[in-house]
Amino acid sequence: METSSIPRKKIAIDIDDVLGDCVGGLIKYCQDIHNRTLARSAFVSYHFERVLGGPKEAALEVLRDYTNSSHFAHIEPLPGAKEGVADLQRTFALYCLTSRRQGDPHKQITLDWLARHFPDSFCEVCFGYNEYTQTGPTLTKAQICAQKGIDWIVEDSLENALRFTAESATSIILIDAPWNQSSERYDHIQRVKDWLEVVRTIRTLENRLPAS
Ligand SMILES: [Mg+2]
Repeated sequence: METSSIPRKKIAIDIDDVLGDCVGGLIKYCQDIHNRTLARSAFVSYHFERVLGGPKEAALEVLRDYTNSSHFAHIEPLPGAKEGVADLQRTFALYCLTSRRQGDPHKQITLDWLARHFPDSFCEVCFGYNEYTQTGPTLTKAQICAQKGIDWIVEDSLENALRFTAESATSIILIDAPWNQSSERYDHIQRVKDWLEVVRTIRTLENRLPAS
């Protein structure tokens, strides 16, 4: 909860492939369970059927089984994420923002993972509409950000980043990944290579704010 009388700037941070290595977990799952080797560079789309090949339904089944597996429950934090969150937490109100399914066991798996790796880091964990399962909450991530007055967002999905720009006029820090490449440049999206640059970029944005 916010304790200062001065409202702190609000930052929403995605889980999968921002806080935690979801794709890395999927690569390990495919190797261990399906004896299939996939390189991280092959993930050129967040639509996994384009990465895995074959019919969409088969790819979604792999994805579904992965998210029900211990591989998913125990993904590793991305390098620098713990340190970056600890740094930002000193001066900002941090919201965890995910499109993971809200129903159990997924919600509990998510809360347990956050408690294990990012204890007491977030003032709220928000679950947005999941376009794969089309279940759960009806608000999209962009709508949640608009509703909560989020100032900055840390994301890895370019599609989400573009929706944020359109629906909430919020600045996005986009962590560079094979699946979010684009030749376009967008005013509200700042591409960074890792968590060190996430923190550096947000501190720069903070310093540009007019003194209150
Ligand atoms: Mg993500």
